[in-house]
Amino acid sequence: MTFLINKLNGVDGLRMIESSEAKIMEPELQCVKALLSPVSGIVDTHSLMQSLVGEAESHRTTFSFNTTVIGAHLERNNLCLHVSDTKRLENLNGRFLLHPDLVLIPELVVNCTGLSAPALAKRFDGLHSGVIPPAYYARGCYFTLSSTRNPPFSHLIYPIPEDGGLGVHVTVDLDGQVKFGPDVEWIKGIDDISSFLNRFEYSVCPDRAKRFYPEIRKYYPNLTDGSLEPGYAGIRPKLAGPQQSPVDFVIQGEDAHGIPGLINLFGIESPGLTSCLAIAEHIAARFSR
Ligand SMILES: Cc1cc2nc3c(=O)[nH]c(=O)nc-3n(C[C@H](O)[C@H](O)[C@H](O)COP(=O)(O)OP(=O)(O)OC[C@H]3O[C@@H](n4cnc5c(N)ncnc54)[C@H](O)[C@@H]3O)c2cc1C
Repeated sequence: MTFLINKLNGVDGLRMIESSEAKIMEPELQCVKALLSPVSGIVDTHSLMQSLVGEAESHRTTFSFNTTVIGAHLERNNLCLHVSDTKRLENLNGRFLLHPDLVLIPELVVNCTGLSAPALAKRFDGLHSGVIPPAYYARGCYFTLSSTRNPPFSHLIYPIPEDGGLGVHVTVDLDGQVKFGPDVEWIKGIDDISSFLNRFEYSVCPDRAKRFYPEIRKYYPNLTDGSLEPGYAGIRPKLAGPQQSPVDFVIQGEDAHGIPGLINLFGIESPGLTSCLAIAEHIAARFSR
């Protein structure tokens, strides 16, 4: 069944292997069986983004950094965007309304603001609140190995997934460095203004390593005590909470909310980066005029 679904999704070459074969490829790996995906790869995310920026600029795109969309209103069925210098938002709290520095009336607005996409959509006057999904947030921390001289693995290794995430897995970067993560830490009590202004905690508490050792040792029993160091953390923009079934990306156009020229992207968590070109092509094909 798994193989049929993968074939339908265009994933080639996936095959089940015995632990003996897995051990030849990865001597440190402990497993009963494994699924080998020979076509999986990694990308340098910063280079990917820089190359997309370069390509867009060479097609006459202008990027406006340090600029925040703070809301919008509808005028004759056009969404008018309220734009402000990001610096002015530093001390903003929920009680004050900001006056925009600029109002733009674009033909097409793609709300692809990641973690703050639902909170920003709530600031679009004229957008029915019933179309904005509830937002949940889950932090994911990474730990690296203190000694990087002999990385134990050369492949990406994924254990069985856990609720809310893929499980603490092995990622290898382009320099061959290994990191473990991300785990899943549900964040409660985030109000709209905190989400809108991305006031999340991104530091990694060294104590979290205690949870990582037993998870990693399920497939890497030789992990030595004291070898993990805090790496970095990211926050997942989720549309389903703890113990709920996962929700796919939501890409909303006029058919969903009735506003011409507005596309909302909600819940673009992993594998949002891998899917970025496919999402862009989908939007271009579905909504180009
Ligand atoms: C721990 C972790 C591990 C991950 N691992 C993977 C992985 O292995 N593979 C994978 O494919 N994906 C992975 N992802 C998911 C991937 O990072 C996201 O899916 C992807 O970054 C989403 O891109 P985005 O452009 O939709 O949102 P973002 O990357 O969040 O970008 C949103 C942008 O909008 C800007 N913005 C926000 N609000 C406003 C506003 N009001 N006005 C103007 N600009 C605004 C922000 O500054 C930001 O630049 C991971 C995510 C996490 C948290």
